[in-house]
Amino acid sequence: MTYQKIKMASEDKGIVYLVGAGPGDTDLLTLRARDKIASCDVILYDNLVHRNILDFADKKTEIIYVGKEAGYHTTKQEVIQEILAKKAKLGLKVVRLKGGDPFIFGRGGEEALFLKDKGISFEIIPAVTAAIGASAYAGIPLTQRGISSSVCFLTGHQDPDTKSFDLDFVPFAKAGGTLCIYMGMLSLDRIIEQLKQGGVSASTPVAIVQWATHSQQITLISNIGSVIQEVTEAQLRAPSIIIIGKVVNLRSSLKWIEKKPLWGKRIAITRNQSKSHRLYTVLKELGAEVLEIPTITINSSPSMSLLNDIWNELARYELIVFTSYNGVKYFFHHFYERFTDLRCLGPMRVACIGESTEKALNEQHIEVDILPEKSNVEALGDAILKNSNLENTMVLLIQGNQNDPVLAHKLEQDGGAIVDSMQLYETHDFAPTKSESFKSFVQKGADCLIFTSSSAVESFARKASLFSLNAGASKPVIASLGPKTSETIKKRGLSVTIESSIPSIDNLA
Ligand code: SAH
Repeated sequence: MTYQKIKMASEDKGIVYLVGAGPGDTDLLTLRARDKIASCDVILYDNLVHRNILDFADKKTEIIYVGKEAGYHTTKQEVIQEILAKKAKLGLKVVRLKGGDPFIFGRGGEEALFLKDKGISFEIIPAVTAAIGASAYAGIPLTQRGISSSVCFLTGHQDPDTKSFDLDFVPFAKAGGTLCIYMGMLSLDRIIEQLKQGGVSASTPVAIVQWATHSQQITLISNIGSVIQEVTEAQLRAPSIIIIGKVVNLRSSLKWIEKKPLWGKRIAITRNQSKSHRLYTVLKELGAEVLEIPTITINSSPSMSLLNDIWNELARYELIVFTSYNGVKYFFHHFYERFTDLRCLGPMRVACIGESTEKALNEQHIEVDILPEKSNVEALGDAILKNSNLENTMVLLIQGNQNDPVLAHKLEQDGGAIVDSMQLYETHDFAPTKSESFKSFVQKGADCLIFTSSSAVESFARKASLFSLNAGASKPVIASLGPKTSETIKKRGLSVTIESSIPSIDNLA
């Protein structure tokens, strides 16, 4: 076989990736898991997989829910396995996405054996298992020198079909290490009773971590003597990890995530379909759960003949003006299609508005000469006029389809410049109906909804009916990146509760 034929044959063969999705927080996903989710043809996912992880999948990927909850099977195990086999035999790349790690109480072993039996290729992608996630996010080390030198992962029920309970927890507890019990909430009273009967001291510390690593994580600290009553009072239930052992005491010194200023808050941000927002990273760092809702999509849309004319005349421009991050992005994309050297730009000066536009230019190793304090085109026009003699000079203005003509007018009328506007991209509305963050927003609401641009507000307003929240969802307050965005929000009849005085992401955060 030639190399080409071998390559095609291996590409035609289907494969199943048994992928761990981690305990919740989407940032805990491995790079390999994210890569497979983004590039596969089909995803079968479980109930405990955080839905936002599905937003990493391609639009064309078929997504099948096969979740099950304790005692209630949506899809029988045999049916799941048959779907895996059927899809793989069609030559598709299948991701079987499971909460936590696939080989820890996840039936990953069973599925792998089934695939092996059927002669279907498979790979395993490990992940942070729930006990490890709970340990880290609750501030409870599972081992600690001088306190605990072993850790056991145990299950509260052996067989989810029969809910049978045949494990003796006493010897594990008496061994003196840490116990992490999965699926234990339904039988918590029986487990605790067994431990008491077996002579485990009533003062032995117990932690229950519900929805570990999710924004709704709750950690209850108790002991064998009173945990049943306290769990009942706090109404804790699955999914929870039960941690038993002296290491639980370390939490009082090591708890950390609850101290983050935005911990427990859900914040929705509207964004461009393809661009992940820096705001996301900043808010996550402060502890928030961030829902990124795509409301606009941006496409490159230059007129090739205009672009050619401009490239041919590039040396004649004395000033280049960028009014947006996307302007910089698309300008340099096309620039480097034509030129190989940044010096081909010539000695022109550079003006721009906005923090992210300036940053994008700096990333291209360009220092900005003119940057007004206020991020609007009027201020940019004034700053340019103040800093330059524009009489008969050639100015290149890089824009999108929604930019207003005020700036070009001002430079021509008030400064006597000759302005060439180059439209490099188009902004269009995008219906986020497939986005899991969007579905979660409509279902449960959020504490805060942030707008970072007037165009995001406008596109949100045009789709307002799509965003009407379900009954019982929390109604968010509205935050705006700056006065200009606030003006648009108010024009649309909404009130602004939080406003950043300058359009800066750090300032807003
Ligand atoms: N394969 C998974 C475990 C699946 S069994 C893993 O490695 O984590 C399901 C049990 O896992 C739940 O009943 C609960 O005990 C635990 N679990 C899963 N996700 C959890 C979470 N985010 N917080 C607390 N417990 C969780």
